[in-house]
Amino acid sequence: MKTVRALARGAVVVNAIVGAGSAFAQSGDVNVYTYRESKLIQPLFDAFSRDTGIKVNVISASSGLEQRIKAEGANSPADVLLTVDIGRIEDAVRAGITQPIKSDVLDKIVAPQYRDPEGHWYGISMRARVVYASKDRVKETALNYEDLSDPKWKGKICIRSGQYIYNNALFAAFIAHHGEAKTEEWLSGLKANLAQKPSGGDREVARDIAAGKCDIGVANTYYWALMLNKEPDRKAWAEATKVILPSFQNGGTHVNLSAVVLARYAPNKGNAMKLVEWLVGEEAQHLYADLNYEYPVRPGVAVNSIIAGYGKLNADTIPLSKIADHKKAAANLVDKVGFDN
Ligand code: FE
Repeated sequence: MKTVRALARGAVVVNAIVGAGSAFAQSGDVNVYTYRESKLIQPLFDAFSRDTGIKVNVISASSGLEQRIKAEGANSPADVLLTVDIGRIEDAVRAGITQPIKSDVLDKIVAPQYRDPEGHWYGISMRARVVYASKDRVKETALNYEDLSDPKWKGKICIRSGQYIYNNALFAAFIAHHGEAKTEEWLSGLKANLAQKPSGGDREVARDIAAGKCDIGVANTYYWALMLNKEPDRKAWAEATKVILPSFQNGGTHVNLSAVVLARYAPNKGNAMKLVEWLVGEEAQHLYADLNYEYPVRPGVAVNSIIAGYGKLNADTIPLSKIADHKKAAANLVDKVGFDN
């Protein structure tokens, strides 16, 4: 198992890949580029190699993988790109680095709202964008997203930047449900309720609630479980908060995806197809549920017990590809209402 993790070091990486060229193009291998933290996905690849005898070479980075694959062109060793969030997923398609995946296995398992109509991406796990709330100070056990603009929360809400991809997708989903004019009104109301300028990440929402700076905030489902179970320094932040799964008044809870794309010039396409189909199999889906605290995309696979403790997920049914159509408008509204100012 080979891990090349030097992408952040720029030119050094090019040499690393060229230098590893022969090892990287072996026909018994599959080459995966990924934004996912390697500690989260390595156990998956280990299990895949054990099952199939196919070696997985991993290149992980926190940004720039689409540009890198594009720059590598027809010689790119990339077979598969694993990425998260509909924004980044669509970036990969727009960069022209994907090819359609044709798989009856995937079509049977992955619901239509969680895949590209043209097959350029398939969701392999889900996360919901939800509300963290103070256990002590918040009596509510249910909320709608629309409630976040209610003046009763004035000075009580924490959230990260409105332009961050997770919020961009949530706001785009709001537009998909209510249109731009109502979304602008809602965003202004939400901004007026903020306890502080948008900052930090999702974990810091729990931190700031625990510190009494705000009472509720917006964050993804898996962070709370990670803090509670795997991050001793942040356990107290989870323990000070509870998770509420909000719904749209005319829909369900907003979910986003981790997804897989097949690289346009995948040199090991056969192995790549084995990997993408394996990723929606029982074993991989259990690993996603229990290691990453994500919702399995495969029906019938149990969610992790911590995640199940939030309550039953009633996922919104608007296809992610439709939500993506409103991303630009959502970003413009965030600027227009001065959300991050
Ligand atoms: Fe995240």
